[in-house]
Amino acid sequence: MSSQINYVFAGDIGGTNMRAALADRSGTLIERGVCQTEPELGLPQAEENLRALFEEVASGVPRDEVGGVVISSAGPIDPDSGIYVHPPNLPGWHDMTMKPGLATSLNLQVTIGHDATLGALAESRYGVGKGAQHLVYVTLSTGVGGGVIANGQMVTGAHGHAGEIGHLLVRPGGQSCNVGCDGCLEGISSGGGIARAATIAMSAGRASSMSDMTGGDIEAVSAQIVFEAAANGDPLGREIVESVIDAVATGFADILNTLDPEYLVVGGAVTGGLQPYWNDLKALVEDKALPHFKGSVPLYVSPLGDDVSLVGAATHAFDLADSRSG
Ligand SMILES: [Zn+2]
Repeated sequence: MSSQINYVFAGDIGGTNMRAALADRSGTLIERGVCQTEPELGLPQAEENLRALFEEVASGVPRDEVGGVVISSAGPIDPDSGIYVHPPNLPGWHDMTMKPGLATSLNLQVTIGHDATLGALAESRYGVGKGAQHLVYVTLSTGVGGGVIANGQMVTGAHGHAGEIGHLLVRPGGQSCNVGCDGCLEGISSGGGIARAATIAMSAGRASSMSDMTGGDIEAVSAQIVFEAAANGDPLGREIVESVIDAVATGFADILNTLDPEYLVVGGAVTGGLQPYWNDLKALVEDKALPHFKGSVPLYVSPLGDDVSLVGAATHAFDLADSRSG
């Protein structure tokens, strides 16, 4: 079999949805599908649904021109075996893997990747940092993740867990994340962390227009509501946003000082909320970073949006397929 590899599969498994795409060599996702993950139905059912989704997106192309599969998944997951390790958003999947089953049913090599690291790869090939050899991608979202490209290569670490930028301790003793580190970037500046800061303050009796915005249900405050309240001049909202900007700036300065990237690319829903404050954020990063970043803080918003990890998965799949075929 010596067919040319013109396509690859890219997949993404989250706690809510699974996505599958067929990509071509330009990095374009030419066909895509999505279905619910329904982790409670068990991993074998999800594996079957994902397989069907891959078959569906590939139905219009010669099957022997599809060169491999790369999937980014919620974790923790062992990247070699694909075995899940108590994944909080995929309950019941502990100690199980769909990697060998999918490889057999699709008759393709299946590789598991770290979503933000694949995101960094996508940004370095197709994003704002196209052609970059040194790039860091950070997603400020429900959680905070990060991926690193150094010397043009993905930095994976000894166990596939490199790039956990979300757990940089940016404010020791500050609000903690779900893992329990006190004052990490994720604890303070993730969507959940931002909402929690508001809920805690209001539970302690702090008055805020956010209470009216949620009909008095302070548990229902979201990061989006905090950003809206801040934009409308609510003192608590502004205070929280300032605290987030300070934490993010500290984390970004640490990243710049440690890795000296050409591009620090930021994506995720919280990044949208920070847009009106982007110049303030950039100035604060410049203040906190080493002097050689004066006037040249390489901070950018991701142009790839929600597709970033799928595009990265496709990019990695082509790299792997090409290295296998020599
Ligand atoms: Zn943490």
